[in-house]
Amino acid sequence: MKLDTRAMRYLASEDWRVLTAVEMGSKNHELVPTPLIEKIARLKGGASGVHKSISALAKVGLIARVKEAKYDGYRLTYGGLDYLALHTHSARKDIYSVGTRIGVGKESDIMIVADNQGTQKVLKIHRLGRISFRTVKSNRDYLKNRASGSWMYLSRLAAMKEFAFMKALLAEGFPVPEPIAQSRHTILMALIDAFPLRQISAVPDPAKLYGELISLILRLAKHGLIHGDFNEFNILIKEIKVTTESGEEALTLEPVIIDFPQMVSMEHQNAEMYFDRDVECIKRFFSRRFHFTSTEPGPFFKDAKRAMKKAGLTRLDATVEASGFTKKMVKDLEAAIREKEAMKADGNNSDEEEEESEEDDDDDDDPSDKGGEIIIGVANEVDDLDAEVASKSTEDEV
Ligand code: ADP
Ligand code: MG
Repeated sequence: MKLDTRAMRYLASEDWRVLTAVEMGSKNHELVPTPLIEKIARLKGGASGVHKSISALAKVGLIARVKEAKYDGYRLTYGGLDYLALHTHSARKDIYSVGTRIGVGKESDIMIVADNQGTQKVLKIHRLGRISFRTVKSNRDYLKNRASGSWMYLSRLAAMKEFAFMKALLAEGFPVPEPIAQSRHTILMALIDAFPLRQISAVPDPAKLYGELISLILRLAKHGLIHGDFNEFNILIKEIKVTTESGEEALTLEPVIIDFPQMVSMEHQNAEMYFDRDVECIKRFFSRRFHFTSTEPGPFFKDAKRAMKKAGLTRLDATVEASGFTKKMVKDLEAAIREKEAMKADGNNSDEEEEESEEDDDDDDDPSDKGGEIIIGVANEVDDLDAEVASKSTEDEV
């Protein structure tokens, strides 16, 4: 699934209202019945106006018709949710145009976007919840019967959690991209002009960089946090030219950490495993890529936890609850993330996923893949219906 903004400019304001109505209706209905769409949208043109918009939206794949035994109805597609989020970012004047896609994961799309000043930013679109039920039984039981329709909910939880942590981490002075805004399953953040560590073949002083990365793990731990996916893809390395005292030009490397939906608390029941896994990941990478092995053992979870208690710093692991997450939301998101991890470990590409990708279209004809820039429709203000959705966005919808 990828973002395709081509149809965006052609949608009339009534179409946006109807699209928003389908989104609102899907909070309580997996399949939104047409009369409900009419009722929520309250278009001046009445039912016939709504029907016209419904066909326009279905034609460009933003909603999909589903026939069921009891009634026919529509559901929002990933494309529809993408449009609604972009519409909100655009109305807030945070995004004016959408450019190249720089990262493609199974569970996220990373796009370069720009505001009307031409400032480039990064839009991360979460795509969670294509459940395959192949992991541990507890997860499977937990998520059973909840998979359909929950992609919207789970992807939004991932975005909310990531955004909350990025704000909290930045406030504590951690090197993370500045989080700018969140809408639905997307977050907008500053673009970091850097390559992932993965793409760096040599560094002048591996021991120094290794030390800095381990320090970051320990600093997170002091604030009660474990990144949970601290690997060479999620560490961007900024190269900064400095002039030394002797007048020589030198390069300093500054790591920037990204990708936070899976962060866990130091109090999590499996905290030690996640902590050790993060440490091990860095050790393994430095040994393979830079042939560097630290002479110091550890760091160890026990010591990190002791240091956390002693330091008495602001505990950021409470951030998620503070940002409006209920216990159930935390549990739902965690189950989905573990599922995603298990799929990765499996080498994935399960049949179920193939079936789910019916919304995917051909990867060849997207101008945004070729570096083209697409101006999205510029909305004047977030309309009242949209604002209503936004204000309800922390509600549990499954
Ligand atoms: P995923 O959850 O799919 O792994 P990430 O947040 O790790 O998503 O982003 C995927 C890739 O996109 C990163 O490895 C990085 O190359 C790029 N990326 C993400 N955020 C930024 C950013 N703010 N600035 C520059 N590149 C980024
Ligand atoms: Mg990542």
